[in-house]
Amino acid sequence: MTSTADIQLLLIEDNPADAFLLQYMLQHIEGQNFSVQHVTRLKEAQQQFEAGYQADIILLDLSLPDSQGMETVTAIINIAPHTPIIVMTGNQDPSAVQEAVKIGAQDFLIKGENDARFLDKTIRYAIERKSAESRLTYLAHYDSLTGLANRALFNDNLRQALARSRRKDALLGLLFIDLDRFKMINDTLGHDAGDELLRNVAQRIKNVIREGDFAARLGGDEFTVIIEGIAAISNAGIVAQKILQAMATPFTLNGQQVAVSSSIGVATYPTAGNSPEELIKNADIAMYRAKNRGRNNYQIYSDDLTPNERHRLQTEHELHRALKQNELQLHYQPIIETQTGAILGAEALLRWRRNGHQELIPPLEFIPILEKTGLIVSVGKWVLRNACLQCKTWHDAGAENLRITVNLSPQQLRGPDTLQWIQDALNESQLAAQFLELEISSHMFTQPSATEKESLDSIRAMGVSLCIDDFGYGETSLSCLMSKQLNSVKIDRRFLQGVTTHKPTNVVIAAIIQMAQNLGLQVIAEGVENRAQLSFLQKHGCAQSQGYLFSPPIEAQKFARLLHEKREQTTLA
Ligand code: C2E
Ligand code: MG
Ligand code: MG
Repeated sequence: MTSTADIQLLLIEDNPADAFLLQYMLQHIEGQNFSVQHVTRLKEAQQQFEAGYQADIILLDLSLPDSQGMETVTAIINIAPHTPIIVMTGNQDPSAVQEAVKIGAQDFLIKGENDARFLDKTIRYAIERKSAESRLTYLAHYDSLTGLANRALFNDNLRQALARSRRKDALLGLLFIDLDRFKMINDTLGHDAGDELLRNVAQRIKNVIREGDFAARLGGDEFTVIIEGIAAISNAGIVAQKILQAMATPFTLNGQQVAVSSSIGVATYPTAGNSPEELIKNADIAMYRAKNRGRNNYQIYSDDLTPNERHRLQTEHELHRALKQNELQLHYQPIIETQTGAILGAEALLRWRRNGHQELIPPLEFIPILEKTGLIVSVGKWVLRNACLQCKTWHDAGAENLRITVNLSPQQLRGPDTLQWIQDALNESQLAAQFLELEISSHMFTQPSATEKESLDSIRAMGVSLCIDDFGYGETSLSCLMSKQLNSVKIDRRFLQGVTTHKPTNVVIAAIIQMAQNLGLQVIAEGVENRAQLSFLQKHGCAQSQGYLFSPPIEAQKFARLLHEKREQTTLA
């Protein structure tokens, strides 16, 4: 009689005496029934599995009439990959059984050295070990939130699917799906609702795709689908359209109806690339194109992008990665007391180490893209937080009065939570508000909106200083100097270039310094490159200066050394 709790055991053993002994011991294991299926050849075992037989455990003799050693083990793993295996050998050489364990068996037995209890223990361990291994494999390959494959399994599958398509000379479609404004939902409805949404989205994607298509979650709100054997490129577009439609019905989150659309990028093999890397990059680029075209649509990657568009999309694509992979960093440029050369502060300036290359990309090449895509808001928070933390570190190291200056984009002032993230950066770094100065380009001060004015007022009320940047260049109007929110004004470096060589510039700069002082503003001259400019500024009482003459923007560590040297000099003097 067999009960449901019986362990189904497949014994693959050609020696009748060994087989008899094992079965005898199995019958004498207390509290456990074994239902034993006994075969004497590998071929028979294979036939059993092909006929639908399922074992809980396999006891495998390493030397069979039709197969020997590791070959046997590999054959069994291939046909029953989820079943634990215990190999058995008659000789005393442990290297063969160790090798078997290395390639995937769970344990081994040396014939003639076992009793019923030892056999029982070995079987239980093997079953447990196999299930732990399966759990680990599952965790390593699947996303626990949605049950979809994760990025690692996606990468494996894409590679294999591409190899198959290449062999069969078939088309393959790769879809990148990104939810529109997922972050907003996460922020407003909470993370539980965000998780619930991701689970629902995964389910809707699964409902739309066919058996044989492969869906994965790459992280965050990014999903992907691999479709093999499509008849035409446009078929991948049809699947993308179906996914868009599936998302059209609102989701119910926290009892609330929420409409969520998505943007989908499609890249097909071989048109959009031959390697997994190329296909991924191009599906991603097509996805950003879909976002830029107003979201809730799909785009198929093609080469008809204008060079400008390609460059921009490529940069944008890389910036998203830059944020995830910490490729952004801050450099610091000292702000100097013009008369004494003492360091009063540091301006934090953003740099991008693209793809981990040595060369650093200057901000003017990528800040406009961050601004256009709205990424500047999250990057700006990162900049502020890190700059404040850095300044506090320098305070703690002895430079107690150093101020930190951070550039803000107008967009950052328009967000609903501007004050909150400024306060968060101060709280987290424990930096007193009086040491933080925010720089805003003079163009913004010409015509600030009511919201922007309100933000500026509240920032001042927090005790944070405000500086108008790039004054004198482009369309700056003098009237902005009268803005009551301001503490200081920074004369643009391009304006300063004419000083000492161009008489009218000298007159105007001298007048700006005078006027600003009369209005109670601090004046900082930026882009001071030579001694002639410095003496001009000293002569006209410009209190603070910044420029290559003193130091270019440098890494935090170098800045710390500079502070240290200055302090030594003052102590000696
Ligand atoms: P900015 O705020 O006017 O920054 C001063 C720029 O002048 C810096 O360029 C600096 O390297 C450069 N500079 C300093 N001394 C000299 C000099 O003696 N001669 C010359 N020719 N140039 C000098 P950088 O770092 O390329 O920054 C360019 C602009 O990018 C900044 O202008 C600022 O508007 C923007 N930026 C930089 N970091 C951030 C940031 O974190 N957030 C935002 N929103 N904008 C940033
Ligand atoms: Mg600045
Ligand atoms: Mg400037």
